[in-house]
Amino acid sequence: MTQPIAILGRGQLGWMLRRAGDRIGANVQLLDPQAPEQPAPDTLITVESEHWPDNEGTRALRQHPGWQNAKTLDTLPSRILQKTLLDELQLPTAPWCRPKVSDSAEDVHNTLGPDFLLKTDRGGYDGRGQLRVKAAENTALPGWKNEAIAESAIAFDTEVSLVGARGRDGQCVFYHLTENYHRQGVLTVSLNQPERFAALQPAAEAMLTKLMTHLDYVGVMAMECFLVGDQLLINELAPRVHNSGHWTQDGAAICQFELHLRALLGWPMPKPHERGTTAMVNLLGMEHQKEWLTVPGARLYWYNKVCQPGRKMGHINLQHPDPKVIAQWLRTLPLPKEYDASREWALERLTS
Ligand code: AMP
Repeated sequence: MTQPIAILGRGQLGWMLRRAGDRIGANVQLLDPQAPEQPAPDTLITVESEHWPDNEGTRALRQHPGWQNAKTLDTLPSRILQKTLLDELQLPTAPWCRPKVSDSAEDVHNTLGPDFLLKTDRGGYDGRGQLRVKAAENTALPGWKNEAIAESAIAFDTEVSLVGARGRDGQCVFYHLTENYHRQGVLTVSLNQPERFAALQPAAEAMLTKLMTHLDYVGVMAMECFLVGDQLLINELAPRVHNSGHWTQDGAAICQFELHLRALLGWPMPKPHERGTTAMVNLLGMEHQKEWLTVPGARLYWYNKVCQPGRKMGHINLQHPDPKVIAQWLRTLPLPKEYDASREWALERLTS
């Protein structure tokens, strides 16, 4: 029996971690964040999300000898601490400040320019807990500004993310940069075209290596960036497996879920072999459709959750050595109208 791993969280990320573990003989158990059982003392404990409820059980887990990455998980979930760390390490990020109690929108505009976002310090993700404030619109700042950061809106050319992992020996491995399209702050499509951002890859890897090394982090971490010209600005760091890495399930010989488990267990972590262009489509707020399976290359991952508007219900990966074949599959994939812009965005890249 291999050393047990417990994942705090029973959502889709936990499920996909366990599924990856089953294949390689890792012994993975999922813990209910509302009332987690306390695992045996030799268990390694990791999280599927950096935000979890504060209760007696989760507080006890934090004290468990197997709790992993304490320093990282005490820092990154707070946008204030995360941005402060990025500044300390001189890693580029969008200009930001902490609004003072007495600050009006105008005061913040004076510091950050005519367009900024207010983001809650903790808990917000996928565009939640965010307010866009434009000078032209005379918006009053809400009461939660004291528990928030303000960040300049970036006129980016595109958004990319780097998913990589650091092992117990300090060695880091990375996948190629992935390009991401968001609708109203939520990821709809990721595209991995290995050569597309080759020129940026070394700089991106150096940034995430610096961070993971500083934090003495072990496991998979994702770095989401805005690309402005040839400059990468870090938008957000996720100390876990990440939605923009789901393509690796079909586009790489070692997927991000397996890589995270290998890192924690101290198992071999060669640079994952990648298979060429891969696309991932998030299925948001929709019921299961067997028609997706009419597309020959569609690999469906369905999370079996109750459908709610905008909720991540599943995803589909499309992988083929020829991007034009992926484009053809994507054209025929049954998706609602709200996906037209996301689909067009991906088709433009797959066919150019
Ligand atoms: P977040 O939840 O902070 O990752 O934000 C979700 C999405 O909102 C990002 O992927 C961007 O598309 C958009 N966004 C967040 N922050 C900014 C910013 N400072 N400037 C422009 N767009 C942003």
